Amino acid sequence: MSQHERPKYVYSFEEGSAGMKRLLGGKGANLAEMTRIGVPVPPGFTLTTKACIEYMRRGREFIDEIWPEVLKHIRKLEEKTGRKFGGVERPLLVSVRSGAPVSMPGMMDTVLNVGLNDETVKGLAKLAGERFAYDSYRRLLSMYGSIVMGVPREEFERLLEEKKRKYGVKADAELPAEALRELVEEYKRLIKERTGREFPQNPLEQVKMAVEAVFRSWNGRRAVKYRRIHGIPDDLGTAVNIVAMVFGNMGWDSGTGVAFTRNPATGENRVYGEYLPNAQGEDVVAGIRTPMHIDELGRRHPELYKQLIDVCRRLERHYRDMQDIEFTVEQGRLWILQTRTGKRTPLAAVKMAVDMAEEGLITREEAVLRVSPEDVEKLLHKQVDPSARKEPVAKGLPASPGAAVGKVVFDSDEAEELGKREPVILVRPETTPEDVGGMAASQGILTARGGMTSHAAVVARGMGKPCIVGCEAIKIDLEKEEFRVGDLVVKKGDWITIDGSTGEVMAGKLPLVEPKPTAELEKLLKWADEIRDLGVYANADLPADIAKAIELGAEGIGLARTEHMFLGDRLPIFQRVILAETEEERRRILMEELMPLQKEDFKEILRIADGKKTIIRLLDPPLHEFLPNIRELLAEVAKLEAQGVRGEELEEKRRLLKKVEDLYEFNPMLGFRVCRLGVVYPEIYEAQIRAILEAAAELRKQGLNPRPAIMIPGVIHKRELEELKKLVEKVAKEVFEREGVEVDYEYGTMIEMPRAALTADELAEVVDFFSFGTNDLTQTVLGMSRDDAERRFLHVYIEKGILPENPFKTLDIKGVGQLMKMAVEKSKRVKPTLEIGICGEHGGDPKSIEFCHKIGMDYVSASPFRIPVARLAAAQAKLKHRR
Ligand code: PEP
Ligand code: MG
Repeated sequence: MSQHERPKYVYSFEEGSAGMKRLLGGKGANLAEMTRIGVPVPPGFTLTTKACIEYMRRGREFIDEIWPEVLKHIRKLEEKTGRKFGGVERPLLVSVRSGAPVSMPGMMDTVLNVGLNDETVKGLAKLAGERFAYDSYRRLLSMYGSIVMGVPREEFERLLEEKKRKYGVKADAELPAEALRELVEEYKRLIKERTGREFPQNPLEQVKMAVEAVFRSWNGRRAVKYRRIHGIPDDLGTAVNIVAMVFGNMGWDSGTGVAFTRNPATGENRVYGEYLPNAQGEDVVAGIRTPMHIDELGRRHPELYKQLIDVCRRLERHYRDMQDIEFTVEQGRLWILQTRTGKRTPLAAVKMAVDMAEEGLITREEAVLRVSPEDVEKLLHKQVDPSARKEPVAKGLPASPGAAVGKVVFDSDEAEELGKREPVILVRPETTPEDVGGMAASQGILTARGGMTSHAAVVARGMGKPCIVGCEAIKIDLEKEEFRVGDLVVKKGDWITIDGSTGEVMAGKLPLVEPKPTAELEKLLKWADEIRDLGVYANADLPADIAKAIELGAEGIGLARTEHMFLGDRLPIFQRVILAETEEERRRILMEELMPLQKEDFKEILRIADGKKTIIRLLDPPLHEFLPNIRELLAEVAKLEAQGVRGEELEEKRRLLKKVEDLYEFNPMLGFRVCRLGVVYPEIYEAQIRAILEAAAELRKQGLNPRPAIMIPGVIHKRELEELKKLVEKVAKEVFEREGVEVDYEYGTMIEMPRAALTADELAEVVDFFSFGTNDLTQTVLGMSRDDAERRFLHVYIEKGILPENPFKTLDIKGVGQLMKMAVEKSKRVKPTLEIGICGEHGGDPKSIEFCHKIGMDYVSASPFRIPVARLAAAQAKLKHRR
């Protein structure tokens, strides 16, 4: 590429806009946008993400090539600020800030106060005082020394702590100028000692090396780890923003803060934030000093506060979403350093979306699209069982809601290790980006220091993990691996319970419960219901689950499995059915003993689901699952024989063993199961059909409106469906004649074998509905056991990227999905009224739901706690792909 065709790598803030995130990074694009709309932003410019990628490829040579452009922009900054970079009179200082296209809070590096050296610091001192100038210089030295030159940050911290001790002060801000001047010398010496090089005095060299360091931080260990956890592609690169410095540490009429235009934890429509007087931005984010509440700023500086609130309102209206703003006050003047769409808890996401729609800021459809199905799922996560709540032992700031229980761990690497096997709670004085892996592996996070915008708080909210920060009552001893609170000592491995919604820490392992949806969530889901085309049914067969599913908005039952009706106290009866020698005997036990019990089960189910379609699936698992394990039985028989036991006891065991051997299969999943049971032993299915229809008829007579639907599993051939349909019709006729009532019922089939999908048009002629059993369909299409694959090899396939996702969780759209699409098209052509749904696990998975909508299915069926997720996902699918 010739020189003049080279892409533009440097943009001033005046040249960019919010739409250019991919190129300018989130921070750069928004700084440009704010500049455009007249929000007070310090002047600056951005090196693009493309420049980062080029730098990775070509290194220093590339930076040298674009350097003249950078110099041009620095000169423009000098013009705008009336200062001079490297000048002694009125020195211009800049910050060199990272900013990727997607937010990665604290993961990459930033260097402040670039441009200071032994000369310019004197100029700055004349302008703004000695103390301030040397404070800024020592900050540059420690940031530059650690980030650019690689001296461990702790070494600077250690010197700083020593200095505070020497001068007898607690806070950094109390150190006198003299102390800071000493520190500057000590820091320079430290850098020389550790690296063998001097801290560069040339300000332009400082910028150049800082830019390179920020670019390199894109591939830093913690940034890479963060991208893995959040699924962010590695090839985006980060932009670098070079911004004229404004100072929050220029005295007590200066300061720095973070504001959210609405409360990020609760969603309340009120500016929420924190302010640290006489400090630079890094002090807030690092969570080192606990800052004051933004309302306090309002009391101390009402004018400034009003200005801040105005900017917040303006930015929120402009972006039509909650903003997370970083600001600095320099001697009473407000500067906005960053705005971005604020991260929020699932609770807040729902409240904000609903509130904003009601305020007219966004439409209802936008509100429905604003909340992710994952957020809804998290919202329905656990809370401490109110009846088991204990007195808290300590209270901190409620940084990320939800309750968590786990064993205390003080080290992040250990949390990563132990977290694989048992629930852990990570307890740290504060967290840094190094802790992200440990946080991800923990159930919850507890820190002793830091505010609501500290690293721990921001990252935990993003992960949707319960988190408490600033819990100063706990005294952590990392050496001993314990924390003390009052007289209580909590050691590594002890159980604790934390409530991130209230900030309470409780000793021990308290029981957790599922919460109820909030009023806002109910409203949002109602809007979703008005939008979606897909019906949302539930997979539930126990009365309590059915009731819960209906409470959460299920419109019917899409799959009531009946296996449980053969277990528990019914198991001995059913075992006698299986062992019966003749059909008469089998029939007698089934009809006289088992059927009446099951009729009561069905009555309860149909009563709870009254008025709603209730799809009941006939018996599905292989019969051997109802008999004792063959190996155990062999051992028992051998033992009895060895003991010389004779007679009926031994004979009975031998009979049982013979039957179990009869039923033994090499491949039970491809064996004597599903409707093959009903074809070979029609009496088993007949008993179930009779129980269902008698239950329905009796309820009908009581004035209820039962709507049973009988579903046949594992069908491969139209003839199976025809045979069994005759059976259903025969039983229905008998029951309705005897009871003197008719009940509307439906007859349908699962599509869970490839042949069923391939011949869906033929099957459609026989039935009223289809339900894709995608657990079995995935198993049979991929030829992978649903019981063993995940444990054995599937994770390797996913790690290696051979399969993009676990096909048992998210539909394999190219394979299983194509078969489904074909089946839907074929069968609807034959019978347009055929109702088609899905009842495999995928029915509660948002991506799979989107696919079901796209291929024109009628409903999805999901487990009760995923019903709200499915309602939202179905509406979003409609909005994304209007049919
Ligand atoms: C299925 O196979 O998808 C299904 C719903 O049935 P089960 O999981 O009971 O086999
Ligand atoms: Mg199945």
